[in-house]
Amino acid sequence: MNNSPILLLLGSGAREHALAEKLARDGATVHVLPGNAGIPNSHPGVNPLDFEAVKAFADAHGARLIVVGPEAPLAAGIADFFAGSDIKVFGPTRAAARLESSKVWSKEFMRRHGVATAQAWPFRSDNIAAARAKAAELGGHVVVKYDGLAAGKGVYVCSSLEEAEAAFDDLQSSYSGWFSFLLEEKLIGPEISIIGLTDGREIKLLATSQDHKQLLAGDRGPNTGGMGAYCPVPFADDNVLAAIRRDIIDPTLRGLQNEQFAFHGFLYFGIMLTPGGPKLLEYNVRLGDPEAEVLLPALDSSLLALMEATLNGTLARQTVTPRPGAFVGVVLASGGYPAPTFPTGFPITGLESLPAHTRAYHGATRRNHAGQLVTNGGRVLVLAAHGPDLETAIARAYEACAYVTFHDAYFRTDIAQRPAPVFASAVVN
Ligand code: AMP
Repeated sequence: MNNSPILLLLGSGAREHALAEKLARDGATVHVLPGNAGIPNSHPGVNPLDFEAVKAFADAHGARLIVVGPEAPLAAGIADFFAGSDIKVFGPTRAAARLESSKVWSKEFMRRHGVATAQAWPFRSDNIAAARAKAAELGGHVVVKYDGLAAGKGVYVCSSLEEAEAAFDDLQSSYSGWFSFLLEEKLIGPEISIIGLTDGREIKLLATSQDHKQLLAGDRGPNTGGMGAYCPVPFADDNVLAAIRRDIIDPTLRGLQNEQFAFHGFLYFGIMLTPGGPKLLEYNVRLGDPEAEVLLPALDSSLLALMEATLNGTLARQTVTPRPGAFVGVVLASGGYPAPTFPTGFPITGLESLPAHTRAYHGATRRNHAGQLVTNGGRVLVLAAHGPDLETAIARAYEACAYVTFHDAYFRTDIAQRPAPVFASAVVN
């Protein structure tokens, strides 16, 4: 790779907008497939799951690096498709992507390698009766997880037997045919997201962050793809991070090496800090969204250099330098999201007059026939702000939310405002 590489970025959301912006700032020429109306150099005609089309595009544009935003191309084997070619893919092989694409396989991996996690029991759809019995034994304090990729859905956090029964019923009606699922003990504690770049041996961590998965303020309502994020997390101090490293990250890296996975990419750890210590809830094999929209502006180092080092086996020599201050991103969503259908196509106004220190990342926008920018999905925009401290960043993000709007726009009013957790000492012991 030379000093100003041409690269392809796959995906179409606000995460890809933030990635494209950062990689361009680092000196790359970035083509986004398919991208969206707000991302420069988007190519809406190319389907990222059509690997032959991606290859033809890479060849035509002289791109020798492909950065994968969402999980689907990884789970479909894009890294395997290009293995052995002169095009490098920043993302794991299909086998390693099972860390995310199969909850059952991922839990077995955690167990094999001593990664701290919730107790869990796998079941098949033809034996839901056994799962019901186990849920009853646990008093309904369980989490039910569909085994495959479910785009932020497919996880039911239950506090009673009635809720667990409803989860089983919903599983049965949502997924046809034969499927597997996990029943997990329900853990309690604050959650943090830790995301790093890894070559399977070394890992370089970005800032700690927190997502807000539920639709309504106070972490109520249905799960979504994420309604906002912030970084860094004030309570994730050195003690907490040392425990996470020891109990979760280091055993994971040892597992990747033992099982000889070719893993070059982002690895995401969704962690709960429980009274019994940090526990891993899930892996993702990509950058989180909306975490990316705060983590990338918070990264002072060159992401391009970090990615190249990951692929070249020189990650150990890299340092990750954060930008000082705090970063907050608020998702502006379409009214009705996350229901399966809701109206879109509404004109978006106010983007030209964003306040200082704020940025709009496009998640689901398009141009209509009149050339107007309109809504095109659930999570339309992420309004991200930087400030010297969290309070200022929050105030700036919400100032931006007052400028930018569209018909029936919805956003959570409490992003980055959870009360500080009180830890039992076991969290860090
Ligand atoms: P996952 O996709 O596995 O991370 O689950 C989605 C969300 O469900 C997490 O971010 C947690 O808020 C919640 N969750 C998952 N597993 C558990 C668990 N064992 N105990 C409590 N909450 C959980």
